[in-house]
Amino acid sequence: MFHPAAQQDPNNPLGLPIYECWFCPTNWIGFSALLYHLEDGCCVKQDRIRTLAFETPEYGFYGNKLTDDNPFFCFRCHAQFPQVSHLYRHVEHTPSCSYLLNPSECLGALRDFYVEYYECPGSDYVHV
Ligand SMILES: [Zn+2]
Ligand SMILES: [Zn+2]
Repeated sequence: MFHPAAQQDPNNPLGLPIYECWFCPTNWIGFSALLYHLEDGCCVKQDRIRTLAFETPEYGFYGNKLTDDNPFFCFRCHAQFPQVSHLYRHVEHTPSCSYLLNPSECLGALRDFYVEYYECPGSDYVHV
């Protein structure tokens, strides 16, 4: 399966923030790449990133239905995506949509939600 979020340019031409995985010592360019890594299911429970996205009050701004083939969409241009990481990669790489990453916008709010959620990893931590 093709994962566009895994294809970030290592030179980071967009100047995206670097995220260290909360559970293992790896670094990722852009929040999309961290999400891609987490969606992989090695560090958090499989499918947890996807289902968590529907637990925020803002989900109507980026989520269709969890059961859809493409549960996620871009609020500005309405492009559809199968995974949260694909949506983040889209906004990171699309200047006209990137404002959605601002803290006051829906994807900024979702990013903060993940960050706060995983500060207390609890039962989502997968022991290897
Ligand atoms: Zn990890
Ligand atoms: Zn868009």
